[in-house]
Amino acid sequence: MTRYKLVKNSQPGGKLGGMTAVWVSSDTCPKTCKLREEESCYAYFWNTKKAWENAERSGVGFAKLVELMRDAGLSRFIRWAPAGDLPGDADRINHGRLFKLVTILSRLFAGFIMYTHKPVEGIHKRGHHMQRKANRRALDDALRVSSSAINISCDSAAEAERALELGYDATMILPSSYTGSGVVVGRFKGRVCWAQSSAAHPERKSCSNCGRGVPWCSRKGRGWVVQFIAHGARKTTINRRLPILN
Ligand code: SF4
Repeated sequence: MTRYKLVKNSQPGGKLGGMTAVWVSSDTCPKTCKLREEESCYAYFWNTKKAWENAERSGVGFAKLVELMRDAGLSRFIRWAPAGDLPGDADRINHGRLFKLVTILSRLFAGFIMYTHKPVEGIHKRGHHMQRKANRRALDDALRVSSSAINISCDSAAEAERALELGYDATMILPSSYTGSGVVVGRFKGRVCWAQSSAAHPERKSCSNCGRGVPWCSRKGRGWVVQFIAHGARKTTINRRLPILN
């Protein structure tokens, strides 16, 4: 059973800046995710790994999570799955549950930050084509009622371009050596994640104070790609694998 762990004050001095977050168990991670290979995903390491293991051990089911999210003491925005993915086993998006989730999040919060690595028709080549099509239908239905973006986490500029051409929001990874403000993707702009975008006071930058009240990654239909510079324990591995990720 998928487990969800609501954390009220997540990474207060770090990336989330105290934003409420829901950690999701690893059964939701797509088997085709390229970051699983060579353990390239940041969630396999350090504090993120510990928090993820804690979610697997002590997380609750979906119904209980919904109850907990009604708590008035939570932040205005919520981060879905710092580790883990959208509801649904492995490559599959659970259509009904995602629809319910974004309906509830849109009602209870000013917005949310959400990404998925699950394969989507027209964007990815990995995964079974029937599953990709089903996932796309699930995303389209959820986005019709969603106040915020559901970002397609892309492993290449080609994927990100296809996602934006189809009207989805997208993020992508850049090599750790990158020092600019963003890479153009086809006819779309790219902007390096705000928390990574300048050396000035990086310790004061977090998702909680990104975008002057509306974090970039939560913005639906923004028309540009948020880009993350590879960092952390596996940045060398990611740099090496970037050209072949997809
Ligand atoms: S762009 Fe903003 S919202 Fe997105 S990850 Fe970076 S700091 Fe968080």
